[in-house]
Amino acid sequence: MLSEKSVRLGTARSVIRELFEYGKSRAAIVGAENVFDFSIGNPSVSPPAEVNAAAIRLLSESDPVAMHGYTSAQGDPAARKMLADSLNRRFSAGASPDDIYIATGAAGALCGCLHGLACEGDEFVVFAPYFPEYKVFIEKTGSAMRLIPPDIENFQIDFDALSLALNPRTKAVIVNSPNNPSGAVYSEETVKKLADLLSERSAQYGHPIYIISDEPYREIVYEGFSVPWIPAFYPYTIVCYSFSKSLSVPGERLGYVFVPQSANRDEPVYAAVAGALRSLGYVSAPSLFQRVCAECADLTADISVYAENRRLLLDGLRSCGFECVEPGGTFYLFPRTLEPDDIAFCEKAKSLDLLIVPGSGFGCPGHVRISYCVPTDRIRRALPAFAKLAELCRAK
Ligand code: PLP
Repeated sequence: MLSEKSVRLGTARSVIRELFEYGKSRAAIVGAENVFDFSIGNPSVSPPAEVNAAAIRLLSESDPVAMHGYTSAQGDPAARKMLADSLNRRFSAGASPDDIYIATGAAGALCGCLHGLACEGDEFVVFAPYFPEYKVFIEKTGSAMRLIPPDIENFQIDFDALSLALNPRTKAVIVNSPNNPSGAVYSEETVKKLADLLSERSAQYGHPIYIISDEPYREIVYEGFSVPWIPAFYPYTIVCYSFSKSLSVPGERLGYVFVPQSANRDEPVYAAVAGALRSLGYVSAPSLFQRVCAECADLTADISVYAENRRLLLDGLRSCGFECVEPGGTFYLFPRTLEPDDIAFCEKAKSLDLLIVPGSGFGCPGHVRISYCVPTDRIRRALPAFAKLAELCRAK
């Protein structure tokens, strides 16, 4: 007897991965240049030169046994010190190395937090549209995901809906700003309002409601937008960070959990996260890249390419009738579909070799996610296919 749920998860890929795999098989038939794959968030921009330079230097100058050996379960102390110093330089975070647990990407960091916090009967609040793996990660803890419907006018938080959803079983609220898939960045005003509401409810329920701030896109933000540092506004914030997007190293599986002292003061949250990561087998993250990412923690890949892609795609889509909230960050656009059924719409797109992801999977039907961390040339060549898609929808 096996877990039915695990078998289902392992058999059916996520919609995004399904499309990504389809794109590869389709490219083998019609040629890669004829498939416009906008499915997955796999950065096309090279990591900063310092990343490879650090890896080469560390490999050639360090003791190979130590470099390839286990580090402490929570990560190499020197790397954690560099990460804490970086947070202190950039956000006056008051971080110490002992507040940081180096994890395998944001996925590992999130699983550690969720399993560390979850007790029987707990609920985790998620705002639609959301990264689909949240549901998988939350449900694996035995807890429930409480979904807040999207505010499709601007993709900020619908506070009336949130206020109704919070209850004594709420353990944490997951915040993802800049957001995958909408690209929305929560303003300081939104963050303050969230902090006030959660403080009030924490006092009312007699236990902290935590914010899990999932921030793999923190540095991928465009002119006119800035990302508030949430721990400065709300003491019970736990940060899940990843270098996957900021340094363009998603395959190296490197991120961390930062538990500020303020989040640790009522309950031993860091110990709970560390214990959960231990029980999940996430100890001693990839050793070489702990050091590389720590050395490069203040750097970001060249996001001017994404800025250009964003402008090109936004203008191109709007000119053929798409409506889209201007995204402040990430490398995703999330326009409305040109017909109500987003799944049928994406199937139509697929018939034009345009691979885009239905909004339903992100809890926001009637929209579509377009991942534009691709070579700019692919966007230029895909624009006529988007125009054709719009025509097909109008012709219906
Ligand atoms: N959270 C969000 C919002 C994401 O978009 C992703 C990846 O796309 C992750 C977490 C997982 O990131 P990682 O690859 O670092 O595990």
